[in-house]
Amino acid sequence: MTISEKVAYLKGLAEGLDLDTVKSKEGKLISVMIGILEELAMSVEDLEENALNLGEEIDVLSDDLADVESEIFDDDDEYDDDWFEVQCPNCGADIVVDEDALAEGEVECSACGTRYAMELTEDDEEEAETEPED
Ligand SMILES: [Zn+2]
Repeated sequence: MTISEKVAYLKGLAEGLDLDTVKSKEGKLISVMIGILEELAMSVEDLEENALNLGEEIDVLSDDLADVESEIFDDDDEYDDDWFEVQCPNCGADIVVDEDALAEGEVECSACGTRYAMELTEDDEEEAETEPED
């Protein structure tokens, strides 16, 4: 039973008492109380409905945001041109330098395991901007 249904049931009980809601103070009191309960029930149910709708809208926004995030962060195609190969001075194998390696500032030769530190060049304008290093 919803709150409204319970209030309607209560109202039916009160009406069954055949209270005089005009001349009887008790009858008037009960009538006013039931009127207030009806309004409260409608308000609460409106709020519940609004909360449900908000929850659904938040779900939609959340999905949209996930789409945006995947566009921005997971679009690997964007970076296909951003890797290059260098030759390992130790063993001569090709080492793939991708943006992960650039971000770490280090690259590891998959053939001999030698690690090389790398410095970012002026090509990385975003990285080159002055940011305080922690
Ligand atoms: Zn090597």
